[in-house]
Parts: sequence; structure tokens; C-alpha cells
Amino acid sequence: MRKIFRELVSIEEAKRRLFERLKIEQEVEEVPLIEAYGRILAEDCYSNIDVPPFDRATMDGYAVKAEDTFGAEEDNPVALKVIGKVEAGEIPSVEVENGCAVEISTGAVIPKGANAVVMVEHTSRDRDVVYIYKPVPPGANVMSAGSDIMAGELLVRRGIKLTAREIGVLASAGFKSIRVVKKPVVAIISTGNELVNPGEKLDFGKIYDVNTYTISSGVIENGGIPIFLGIAKDNAEEIKSKIAEGLKIADIVILSGGTSAGVGDMVYRILEEFGEVIVHGIAVKPGKPTVITIANGKPIFGLPGYPTSALMIFEIFVAPLIRKMAGLPEEHRKIIKAKIPFRVHSAMGRREFLPVNLVETKEGFVAYPFTEYSGAISTLAEADGFVEISENKVFLDEGEVVEVKLFGEVRPADLMIIGSHCVGIDVLLEILQRRKPMQAKVINVGSTGGILAINRGEADVAGTHLLDEKTGEYNIPYLLKYGLNGKAVLVKGYVREQGFIVAKGNPKGIKGFEDLLREDVTFINRNPGSGTRILLDMHLRRIAEDKGIDFEEIKRRIKGYDVEAKSHTAVAVAVLMGKADVGLGIRTVAERYGLDFIPVRPEEFDFVMRKDRLEKESVKLFLDVLRSEEFRKELERRLPGIRITKRTGEIIEI
Ligand code: AMP
Ligand code: MG
Repeated sequence: MRKIFRELVSIEEAKRRLFERLKIEQEVEEVPLIEAYGRILAEDCYSNIDVPPFDRATMDGYAVKAEDTFGAEEDNPVALKVIGKVEAGEIPSVEVENGCAVEISTGAVIPKGANAVVMVEHTSRDRDVVYIYKPVPPGANVMSAGSDIMAGELLVRRGIKLTAREIGVLASAGFKSIRVVKKPVVAIISTGNELVNPGEKLDFGKIYDVNTYTISSGVIENGGIPIFLGIAKDNAEEIKSKIAEGLKIADIVILSGGTSAGVGDMVYRILEEFGEVIVHGIAVKPGKPTVITIANGKPIFGLPGYPTSALMIFEIFVAPLIRKMAGLPEEHRKIIKAKIPFRVHSAMGRREFLPVNLVETKEGFVAYPFTEYSGAISTLAEADGFVEISENKVFLDEGEVVEVKLFGEVRPADLMIIGSHCVGIDVLLEILQRRKPMQAKVINVGSTGGILAINRGEADVAGTHLLDEKTGEYNIPYLLKYGLNGKAVLVKGYVREQGFIVAKGNPKGIKGFEDLLREDVTFINRNPGSGTRILLDMHLRRIAEDKGIDFEEIKRRIKGYDVEAKSHTAVAVAVLMGKADVGLGIRTVAERYGLDFIPVRPEEFDFVMRKDRLEKESVKLFLDVLRSEEFRKELERRLPGIRITKRTGEIIEI
């Protein structure tokens, strides 16, 4: 059998091969100055003229011989004879002699004989006599020829990214067009039978094409011009013809998807036909299945399909290449030090680029790692930066200090919400931000993660909905268990109606937990640790006791007990697709999918807040909104199944 990833190479080795094989040349093109903004100047620009090209008045007033004004005083003006007038753009027809003055406008040529201009504000006029009330030294209000820029002087150096200021200097010296570095053209192809363009109908099993959009933005950001060749089906002929088209019109061809071993490594086999495959698999996470080929001196990149992976490989390999061709300097990311809040395992044997979310605390930054990020897209928008983990590291330990490379600036947050996420929080924050614009950051680490974040002082607020199986009580037992008494309070939030999600019309006639034991009923379970799973097990234990059967036996009897969905939505979709007859979840998602819902018991979604943050403005505002009529109404209108109770906003000391 053919080994699919023949040899994973390190990032450094892959880069070396790429840059060694490629002859990178900057091409030059001439563009009108008016279109030069943001372009990279390809050659040094010298001035052919003096700027200003003549001695020029910088004020409205009178051109004079300076010595004629000496001795002028407020109550003893000097009188001069006005012998003419020069406007901007005119050639003066008179010469200034002693005892004379010429009226002059800003920007006009200083007439012969004159060596200074008296501001009009320091004069008065009576027919052809001007009275000067203040003396001027020679050169006053005159800008002499070449004093700004001398003919032959360097105006703007090559390699500069042109802004309004450099363009202004070039215009002053008369440049109509200039030579700039040609932007590399990058052809972009997405592959996959499952892809459709945003805006088109999303049939079941399809997803929207993300990579075309992320990569084309990346190309622009790094100084290139993207050309979309569209989506190619997983069909060798179609992909080949698009690559061939790309090679004709572009300097670089990027395709994504179809590189993983699972799809028969199609892209590798195709790229092999176009040229020498210099990289086939990189020891990096995310982004291992990357293929790089050079065809007639042009690189073709086969990026992984997952958007996060594709963008990461784009950043590592393609962006530096585009920048070089575009004449842009290498990008240097800002680095800050941060602590890791909990142990995370890393990809042994591969360099890992772990996206993180930064939280600022009194003791410095904490970097929350994204877990299972490769397949997730939300990571892209939420991450502040990444931690580069070396090949031989197995994990990052709790409390370990790491360097975080930032994507941009750290966005400071006025309100840190870490814990279980709920769409109700989004509604709350929307209202809060309408009342007072502020930065709120939400990190989803589940209820327990939120409680720990409160304990460590990273979160201001944590959403939690943990059911204690023994007492049947929500949240408080857990706060006590984690030692938050005295340190935090519980603020009652809202309730989410929880119950059975079944097909429209409830065809199996599900009424309660006992129905799950029926032969003709298939269940879809939730993951262990989720509130819903705890609720289920609590009820099943009761049934077991009542019936005198072993709990394990009850679990065995339920068809589908060991099939786990990871979210409420996944439960609803399983029912919708007919994979299961019933699952436990919240009404909100049942309604969204047009499914029926049989209530079991409301789940209490509460907020844990640190006592020492209760006076913080953003936290106070959070409480205000939580208790507001506006929030109640918005919840009712937008999220059926989530509702305010009499206790919403109540603070419980623990
Ligand atoms: P592949 O390498 O084709 O097996 O793709 C790996 C995963 O990335 C699959 O789940 C694809 O559906 C997904 N994927 C591939 N291309 C894209 C794209 N352009 N936009 C979003 N997801 C994609
Ligand atoms: Mg694919």
C-alpha cells in the first residue's frame, strides 16, 4: 500500500524548499499618481524642479524692500507708494524700488526688488498709499525658490508604501505617474462537492464555501490581487482545468480541500501532474495535509479544507511569499506573555499553533486555549492570537507561562463572561451595548470552567446550569463544592424549558421517561457532564428504584443511550433526520427546527459573579439589564422557551 503522507517535513524545511526553488522577482508597473495610494514605490523618485519653483509670498499683503519698513510703529506708520498688484499665477510686471510697494496675494511670485512681504493685517490703505505699522526683516513671509525641495533632491525612497503624504510630495514635483511594484495575482480555487456559494440555497449536507473568502482577504491584506476561480467539484478533470486556468492568469495558485488522505489524496495526485511536488505533508497542527508544487516556476498550494487550518497554512507559507513579491516587509507579530488556565494536550511530533483567547487579570494575561479548534470556524473570529508549541511538547500545563503571538491588537474587554454559553446571553449583551457601548468578551468553556474562572479572578460573570443529582438543586451545590462561598454570589438568571424533543405530531406518543424504555423508541443522548444528561440519569435512577431494576440495566434497555450528541442543536437535528425518535433538550431549539416539545422541567440558567466585581460598572449594567423589562420582552419575542422568573436578578450570598 502506498504511504499517503510520505514524509512529514518541518515548517522550516518546507519553507526552505519553497524559497530555494522559487525565483522571487518583483515586477514593476506604471500607475497614475492618483491611483498610487497604498502601492509600493518601485524606484527612488528624485525631483526635477525646485519647490517652490520661484520666491513666493506666503501671506496676503505688500511686497516691499524690508529696509523701507524699519522704524515703522503702531502710532508712526511708514507710508509707501503702491505701484501695482500681483496675483497668484501671474508674472509680475513691476519692480519694487525704495519707497514703493506692490500688493501681493498668497502664492504669487515676489516681484523683482522686493525681499519681504508685510501682512495685510499690519497695513492700512488710502488710494495709492499704503501705511505700514510694523517693520519686517528681509525674507519675512517669503518662501524662497527650492527652499522646500531642491532640484535633484530625493523625494521618496523605493519600497515605501505610499500614503497621502508621499503622494503629495510626488505631486508637488510634477509626477503624473510612478513606477510601483506589481501586485502578485493569486488564483483561488475551493474544492468539494459539499460546497456552495454564500447566498445560494443550502441543501442538507452542504456547507458554504469559507476558504475562498478568508484566503482572498488574506491575499489583499498581504498586497496581492485575488482572482476567484470558484468552487470545483471533487472531480480531477474539473480541478485540473481550473488549475490550468489559474497558471495562465496568476503568479500563484491556491486551492483548498481534497488534500486529506481520506479523499484518496486527490490533490496530491493532480499536483504531481503539474510539476514537482516539493512538500507533501507538514509536521504542523493544524494544517498537516498541505501539498506544495512548483509548476513552471509558479507555486501551487494545496491547502487543507478546514478553514482554520487553511488560513493557518496560508499565514505561514503563502502570506510571506505574497509579501515578498509585493515588496512588503515581513510581518512581525506582537508578542505578549500569558498564563495557561488549564492543562491542554498538544500534538506530539508536530508544531502546533494553538489559537487562544486572552483575558486580562490583575496578575497579567491569561490565554484560554480553544479546544477542538481545527474544524471550528468561530475560532477564526474570536481568537486574539496563537501559542506556538514545539514538536516535542506533550502538553501545556496549568499555570504555564507562554508567549502569545497576536493577530492584531489585544482587545481589552470591559466585561468578561466565561462559562456556559446561552443564546440568552447574546440577547442580554445586545441590550447592554445599546445602553452603553462597551467591549464584552464571551468565552465558552462550560459551566464548570466558568466557576473555575470566577475562582481564579479571570471572569466577571459566569453562566452556569449545573444540576446536583443528589439534591435536585441547580448551581449552588457546585459553588460550595468549588469553595466559592464568601468569594462569589449567585445571581438568578432565567429558566430554559427542558423536555423531550420529538418529531412534529409526536408520532411515537412520548409522554415521559418511561417511554424511553420502549422497544419501538430510539433515543439520542447528550454527552456526560452536560446538565441534560444529569437530568436524564436522575430520572432514570428514580425509575430504576421504583421498578427495582439495576440502573445499568435501565441504561442498556434504552435504545440509543450510548449515542451522544454534543449540543441541544445536534439533538434536534438527529430527531429531524429521523435518526432518533426522541431526545432531551431545550424548547428553543425544538421550535427552531419545527419539532414538537414535551416539557419535563425548567432548567435554571444562573450567573456566578465575583463579590469584588459587583461594583464594576459593566457588571452593574449587566445586572440592570438582566432585571429589566426590556430584556424580558426581547427574550419572549426572540427565544421561545427561555423566560424570566420572579427570582431573576436575585442575589444569593453563598
Ligand atoms: P477535505 O480536505 O476536502 O477533506 O476537507 C476537509 C474539511 O474541510 C471537510 O469537512 C470540508 O467540508 C471542509 N472544507 C473544505 N473546503 C472548504 C471550504 N472552502 N470552506 C469551508 N469548509 C471547507
Ligand atoms: Mg473536500
